[in-house]
Amino acid sequence: MSKQALDLLMQLSDDFTLGEFLHSQTADRHGVRNEPSWEHVIAMRNLCQQVLQPLRDQFGPIHINSGYRCERLNELVHGVGNSQHMRGEAADIYIPNLGTGLQYFDFIRDNTIFDQLLFEYNSRGGKWLHVSCKMDKKHNRYMAIPNYTLGLQ
Ligand SMILES: [Zn+2]
Repeated sequence: MSKQALDLLMQLSDDFTLGEFLHSQTADRHGVRNEPSWEHVIAMRNLCQQVLQPLRDQFGPIHINSGYRCERLNELVHGVGNSQHMRGEAADIYIPNLGTGLQYFDFIRDNTIFDQLLFEYNSRGGKWLHVSCKMDKKHNRYMAIPNYTLGLQ
């Protein structure tokens, strides 16, 4: 899809725009055009409607650290090879502290349709909540893994 055809202000749900899912400092730094297909956009919209908008409605504004990743961007951030970020099915949600992260975690687990939900962190002390949702509802596995918090300080 050409950049011109992409409307970054397209609303995926009441409070989320497409641009929030495409923006990446790593992509900018490396000159990577992080462009989804329409199929990916539809998957992002599904993730927003099933998970992120309900979370936002409950807690107020939340920040997406990483949404869609083209293959090159996924390589640059050392994402796993079959990452759901490459299909528009996953987002990493910024968490200001562990307590807030646990509140988000519990809410998503108990109130939304999701595939995977887990805490992730990097060697530089960054931490976030990874959540995914598949288009076909019956394929969602409801894998919530709180143990990942053990790596957080
Ligand atoms: Zn992720």
